[in-house]
Amino acid sequence: MVMQDEALEPTFTREGEATTARYTRIPEGAMLPDTAYRIVRDETMLDGNARLNLATFVGTWMDEHADRLYKDAFDKNMIDKDEYPATAAIEEYCWRILADLWNAPDRTDVIGTSTIGSSEACMLGGLALKRRWQHARRAAGKSTEKPNLIMSSAVQVCWEKFCNYFDVEMRFIDTSDEHPLMDGTGLEDVVDENTIGVVVLMGVTYTGAYEPVTKVAAKLDEIQAKTGLDIPMHIDGASGAMVAPFLQPDLEWDFRVKRVQSINTSGHKYGLVYPGVGWIVWRNVAALPDDLVFKVSYLGGSMPTFALNFSRPGAQVLLQYYRFLRLGRDGYTAIQQASQDVARYLSHGVGELDAFELITDGSDIPVFAWRLKPGHTDKWNLYHLSERLRIRGWLVPAYPLSGKQADQTVMRIVCRNGLSRDLAEDLMRDIRTETAYLDALEQPMPHPGIGPTFHH
Ligand SMILES: *Cc1c(COP(=O)(O)O)cnc(C)c1O
Repeated sequence: MVMQDEALEPTFTREGEATTARYTRIPEGAMLPDTAYRIVRDETMLDGNARLNLATFVGTWMDEHADRLYKDAFDKNMIDKDEYPATAAIEEYCWRILADLWNAPDRTDVIGTSTIGSSEACMLGGLALKRRWQHARRAAGKSTEKPNLIMSSAVQVCWEKFCNYFDVEMRFIDTSDEHPLMDGTGLEDVVDENTIGVVVLMGVTYTGAYEPVTKVAAKLDEIQAKTGLDIPMHIDGASGAMVAPFLQPDLEWDFRVKRVQSINTSGHKYGLVYPGVGWIVWRNVAALPDDLVFKVSYLGGSMPTFALNFSRPGAQVLLQYYRFLRLGRDGYTAIQQASQDVARYLSHGVGELDAFELITDGSDIPVFAWRLKPGHTDKWNLYHLSERLRIRGWLVPAYPLSGKQADQTVMRIVCRNGLSRDLAEDLMRDIRTETAYLDALEQPMPHPGIGPTFHH
């Protein structure tokens, strides 16, 4: 039964293939590996072209040495420290490199870990803040019933998950036209004795702008002087923590700011690794409560781990180390600079068009956003432009801002390694052409557009 069609050509007519390729139940028999391979491959042909996806922050290109390393290592399990002690050691080199890039005050008193991405890293950062607050409250004989966490309304969805899953009240500082970034204004109204921390974004996903870490810290200093409350900060540097050390080395946003207790980043964003790796580092060992840490066996002894997952691929951690070694500070700087140059080129081009005004220009992380000039047209909106660009193969998302700006629609482009100047020129030409097409409409578009399909 199974093998009878082994020699059957042409393809696409073999058993299992000619009927349906949509299996929502496990098939009874086996099929040839070629057939199974082709079914899966063909099904994914309808996925987008990753290089033309300007919506995502996630890396889609590595060199062939990285690919080889990946193939050599895709069976490694990160949790098996005992079986893969060398991989475990490399994990530690990586977070130590990050601690150094982020100016940890004492290289001998620092702790960190890899994760599956920034989302898991943010959960761990949030859990450490919550547990520290609980310890302090219990020691003072006070209630631990009602923890809250402060953040901008522009946070990434992982923080809503953290607050939801771990029973922490979410307190937003709404973004507004006067304060498009959380800059400390209004913190005094939301901070209280139940505040476990403030999350600051280094790289707001909506616009690519850095929140001013030192201003938030200064405001918390003021609050402490008045009320005695000592509120720690966590930096969500999913994108920016891999950019700022190279492009804005003088900007103080990291452990140079004393209130900053922990920083996370995504290795698979501007860390330049394939999807599946994130990092978190705490300013010192004391910032990570001991009772959150588990021990796993390692070379006959034991090794501390702090993670939500148990088994997880180890290959991406090796790829991160490869990137650090291969590129060095110079290489990372050159790559991030090239992405920023492309972002500045594109934002300049978009800003020159009559229809648009820029919200950001790519000078923080290489990401920029723009909106339609108020009053420019009543015939089309940015969702229509997004659709038109999609026809040409480009994925450029349009979506509403957050907080008090939720009535404003913006469009955003994330410039990553791989969006070359050549491609950017093609993209700019298409943005110009499609904008002109929409501007030339004699009647309004009949349909309000597909609406936001994009999630932060
Ligand atoms: C992307 C992003 C995240 C989530 O990161 P993953 O690595 O995709 O889990 C969290 N915070 C910010 C600011 C982000 O940009």
